[in-house]
Amino acid sequence: MNQAPYIASEIAPLLATRELSSREITQSFLARIERLDPSIRAFISWDGDLAMQAAAQVDEQRAAGQKLGPWAGMPISIKDILCTTDADTTCGSRILQKYRSPFDAHLVTKLRESGLVVLGKTNLDEFAMGGSTETGFMGPSHNPWDLSRTCGGSSGGSAASVASAMSPLSIGTDTGGSIRQPAAFCGVCGLKPTYGRVSRYGLIAYASSLDQAGPFGHTVADLAQLLQVIAGHDKRDSTSLAVPVDDYVGAIDEPLASVKIGVIREHIDDPGLDPEVREAMVATIDQYKKMGCSIVDISLPNTKYAIATYYIIAPSEASSNLSRFDGAHYGFRAPVNSDQVYAMAAGSKALSPLDQMYSHSRSQGFGSEVKRRIMLGTYTLSEGYFDAYYLKALKVRRLIRQDYDNAFGSVDVVLGPTTPTPAFRLGEKVNDPVTMYLEDLFTVGANLAGIPALSMPVGKTKSGLPIGAQIQGPPLAESKLLQIAHAYQKAVGFQPELPASVC
Ligand code: GLN
Repeated sequence: MNQAPYIASEIAPLLATRELSSREITQSFLARIERLDPSIRAFISWDGDLAMQAAAQVDEQRAAGQKLGPWAGMPISIKDILCTTDADTTCGSRILQKYRSPFDAHLVTKLRESGLVVLGKTNLDEFAMGGSTETGFMGPSHNPWDLSRTCGGSSGGSAASVASAMSPLSIGTDTGGSIRQPAAFCGVCGLKPTYGRVSRYGLIAYASSLDQAGPFGHTVADLAQLLQVIAGHDKRDSTSLAVPVDDYVGAIDEPLASVKIGVIREHIDDPGLDPEVREAMVATIDQYKKMGCSIVDISLPNTKYAIATYYIIAPSEASSNLSRFDGAHYGFRAPVNSDQVYAMAAGSKALSPLDQMYSHSRSQGFGSEVKRRIMLGTYTLSEGYFDAYYLKALKVRRLIRQDYDNAFGSVDVVLGPTTPTPAFRLGEKVNDPVTMYLEDLFTVGANLAGIPALSMPVGKTKSGLPIGAQIQGPPLAESKLLQIAHAYQKAVGFQPELPASVC
C-alpha cells in the first residue's frame, strides 16, 4: 500500500523544500488518528482544528521566507502528564479529568517555538505509575504489533502513537523506564536524558528525584533532533542543569573510534530473561564487535537491589507529591454528604465536612495503583519506618550510582536488554503488582543513578514482537549514546517498519 511519509527525518526535507505543507502532513496524521485510534487508543485527547491552525501558521511563515527550525511544521504527540494551555492535562486520572493548566510546560513551549505541531495528548498509566498503560481512567492502549498485548507503560500511548504512525514523534516521561520499556515493546526508539537535562517545569510530578522527559521517534537520528529542541537549562526548574547543550545532531555521524562497550553480565545472565531477547542481545553484541568496538563484561553488583530501592523511593516521593490533589485545589471534588454534616453538628464523630471532602475526593478520584503507592510511600516515610526503609533506600541508591561510576571508569557505555521479556498480554500482570514491578528490573537503575539511557529496536521474536536493547552512559553522555546507537542503525541498514494492523 502506498504509504504517506511517517518518519520525521524523511518528512523534514519535504517540509523545508515546500514539497509538502505542514497542513498536508498534519492532515494525513489526523486522518490516521481518526482511522486507527479507535483500536489502538493511544490518545486521551486530540484537537484537529488546533493542530491545523498551528500547521497553517508555520506554512505562512515559510511562505513569507522566515528562517525556521529544522522541524518547523512537524506533528508531534505529547504524554498527557505535560501541561498544555489548550488541552486538558489529565495524567490519566479521574482526579484531574477536567484539569486545564494555566501555563504550558517549558518543553511544550520549546516545541511550539520550534514550530512543531501538537496533535494531541497521549494515554498513560495513572500519574505515570505502571508499566502497561492499563491503570488510567481511559483504560488500556493497545500494542500495534499485537492488539491483545500491552504497548508498555507508562508512556505507552506515546510509543503506540509513533509505532502506528499516528504521529512521527512523541514526548514521554521516564521515572523508572516509562520511555524505554514502551519503546522496546512497540519497536521504536526512546531516550531518557540525564536527570536535569530537560526542564521538568510543567511536568506533573510523580517522583521528583527520578522524573525526566524525553523523545520518542522511529530512528535514533529522530531522537537526536528532538532532544536538540527540548534540552537545556530552565531557571524555573531548580534541578535543570545549567550546562551547555551538545550538538546531538552533529554528533551522531561522527565515526566510532575505539569505543568500549560494557556488557552488563547480571542482565544478560538473568534467569528470567526471555531466550529470544537473549538471542537478540547476543546478535547485537556481535554486530558491535563487527563494527570494531571492544566489548568487555562489566558488573553492576547492586542491580539486585534496584527494584526494591526504586519501589521505596518512588512511592515515598509520590505520596508527598500527590498530597496536593485534595479536591480543594485541582480537578475532581466529591460532593459532601449533608446527612453527615448534620450528624456531626449533632455531636457524632463523623468526619468534618472538610475532611470528608478531602477523603472522598481522594478515594473516588485516584485509582487503585495510585492509592497503593500513596499508602506504601506514606508508610515508608512514617516515623519509625523512615530510617529502616527510606533512608536505607537512599544509601543503596548511592551504591547503585557507584556501580555505574565504576563501570564508566573502564567503558564508554553499557549495553543490555531493555526489558526481560517482549510485550506481555493486556490483563496478564495488572492485578499482580509485584510481577509488574519486576518488569522494570533493567530500567530503574538509570533513573536511580540519574544517567541517560536509550532503547532501540534490535530484532523481533518469532511471533513478530519487537525486542529492544538499552544503552546507558555517564551523566550528560547523550551524544555518545546517540552516536553509538545511530552507528548500529546505519551498519544494519535499519528501516523502520509499520505493523500490519496499521498499514
Ligand atoms: N513502571 C515504573 C513504575 O511503575 C516506571 C514508571 C515510570 O517510569 N513513570 O513506577
